[in-house]
Amino acid sequence: MNVPFLDLRAPYLELRAEIDDAVSRVLRSGWYLLGPEVEAFEAEFAAYCGADHCVAVNSGGDALSLILRALGIGAGDEVIVPAHTFIATWLAVSDTGATPVPVEPDPVTFTMDPARIETAITPRTRAILPVHLYGHPADLDAVRAVADRHGLAVVEDAAQAPDAVYNGQRIGASPSTVAFSFYPGKNLGALGDSGAVVTSDRGLAEKVRLLRNYGSRVKYQHEVLGTNSRTDEIQAAVLRVKLPLLDEWNARRARVAERYLAGLKGSDLELPRVASWAEHAWHLFVVRTSDRAAVAARLEAAGVGTLVHYPVAVHASPAYAPLGLGPFPLSSRLADEVLSLPIGPHLTDDQVHHVIDALGS
Ligand SMILES: *Cc1c(COP(=O)(O)O)cnc(C)c1O
Repeated sequence: MNVPFLDLRAPYLELRAEIDDAVSRVLRSGWYLLGPEVEAFEAEFAAYCGADHCVAVNSGGDALSLILRALGIGAGDEVIVPAHTFIATWLAVSDTGATPVPVEPDPVTFTMDPARIETAITPRTRAILPVHLYGHPADLDAVRAVADRHGLAVVEDAAQAPDAVYNGQRIGASPSTVAFSFYPGKNLGALGDSGAVVTSDRGLAEKVRLLRNYGSRVKYQHEVLGTNSRTDEIQAAVLRVKLPLLDEWNARRARVAERYLAGLKGSDLELPRVASWAEHAWHLFVVRTSDRAAVAARLEAAGVGTLVHYPVAVHASPAYAPLGLGPFPLSSRLADEVLSLPIGPHLTDDQVHHVIDALGS
């Protein structure tokens, strides 16, 4: 049996008729960027999140950097980021000219450790950027408490966490300002690049709206130095087909996770843990083992695909090594020890059992 790490065709095939209709509706309309589909998706996704505004942009990374720019963050400023995350989180900060200041993760949830934020704050710090990593929410109340004490903004990277819940509140709900990614492999995936800013801050939403379209509201009237970060109508139309299924698909992810947690209980792997205040979106099912190469090889021999999120700590990547940040021993250890098992709404029970069996042998 074959268990690919990710099967991007399966969600399309489940919704083929609706997606084909949606795409063909756009093709026939003659309007391809920032039109009625984007507007409708923005309204639907804001309502889904429990927020007042959604501004669709070109990617999750753009969503983050445009929020930071709209907050006036740039050269000379510092933004506190998780040491353990996908590099896009840091790149969004660097893109504005500001400097990312990393903080080690909490060893249970692997999200930013709120207890370590305060020592990273300097007079240049402007914002804290927690990431809801792997689909597990960061400890937002604790992060917000630090931010409030120091007058800092909180900007959330929810690229991996649509439908995750923190203390009974869906990620993105008011009063948060959140960046989402609709990269095809994410829980809510487009058929190309797309992302969104979700916020209940009207002024911020308006600024991002300006920035994403060359700084203009009215054609050829450019109010600020903007950029091109538009979403196209085809992606918005596809996302509108998928959004009503997001809860069900995430529930299917959660069932896979439950089966793994039960089936792998006695194994040597350190299994993911869910904090009492969290509902996990299960974007990734990440186990930890000091024997990663052997475990991955055993799975590969059984036809099971795995990936590592992420094999190099961001501060140690060639892109950031010149900054000379660190050491971040926990993040470096996680880079050596984490392994992601296949998870998704289209994995069959047989496939899940096959993975569990392969790990037990
Ligand atoms: C995917 C991802 C991003 C970037 O999203 P893109 O749409 O690829 O730009 C940012 N942060 C995290 C944690 C991600 O997983």
